[in-house]
Amino acid sequence: MLIEAIAQMQQWSEAMRTQGNIIGLVPTMGFLHEGHCALIKTAAQECSVVITTVFVNPLQFGPSEDFARYPRDLERDIQLATQAGATVVFAPTVEHMYPAGYAAMIDPGPIAEKFEGIFRPGHFRGVATVVAKLFNITKPHVAYFGQKDYQQTLVISQLIRDLNFDIRMRVLPTVRQDDGLALSSRNVYLSPQERQQATILYRALQEAEYAIRQGERRRETINTLLRHTIEAGCPEIKIEYAAAATAETLEEPEFFASGSRVVLLLAVRLGTARLIDNSLVEVP
Ligand code: AMP
Repeated sequence: MLIEAIAQMQQWSEAMRTQGNIIGLVPTMGFLHEGHCALIKTAAQECSVVITTVFVNPLQFGPSEDFARYPRDLERDIQLATQAGATVVFAPTVEHMYPAGYAAMIDPGPIAEKFEGIFRPGHFRGVATVVAKLFNITKPHVAYFGQKDYQQTLVISQLIRDLNFDIRMRVLPTVRQDDGLALSSRNVYLSPQERQQATILYRALQEAEYAIRQGERRRETINTLLRHTIEAGCPEIKIEYAAAATAETLEEPEFFASGSRVVLLLAVRLGTARLIDNSLVEVP
């Protein structure tokens, strides 16, 4: 079922809650792939009803970013979401989400300033704002997000904690293609050759993971390994960041403590695409 009106979505969710349902929410920007579908499938296993939202949020795109050309196919999204177990697809219009006079913005604080925040200023303000709106519109008990957007999961968890949303957050692993490339709606921007070259990202993550498991704890050495693996494998890639950080806080100590968790974060440009990926490693 498709719902486009905000008031109708709120009424539907209210009715579902009154009937004792557990509502799962999977927020997306549409052009669904197996990564999104994995979130919807898990939500369908864990909740009695599932709302998938499809909304390309202009607030989280910079002026020179790909908002206008971001791929869209609502009919196909409805089909895929329903097959995966969504009860409702909520797809509001930009005009209804941000009517004339709209002004309120949520600032997630310092966690939004690093990495993505440096290259996409304002991005996480847009994300936090739209997610807060979607929470208020869909009234979920549980909200599902992908590890693919690692820093985003930290921002959302800060949002839920600080603003007292009565919502449980679930983060599910990144779904990859057989050669390791993380599924992304933006992969359609890659030419066949670039699609091939993009596999270096996962290989760089694996190299760095291996080094950490072998005992490397010095952050600069890990960063250099990530960077060199990408540059040697594909000189056409422009690295925005390739960095190891403390998983919970994104701090960047000189050495990672034994027993701590490290996140390896990548953001690169390849052709007209901007790709991100990450992986989590336990320090032995
Ligand atoms: P997006 O449509 O790109 O905004 O993504 C919507 C949700 O799906 C976010 O929580 C993403 O982290 C998640 N997601 C995107 N790609 C993947 C993937 N390859 N594996 C798992 N989750 C993903």
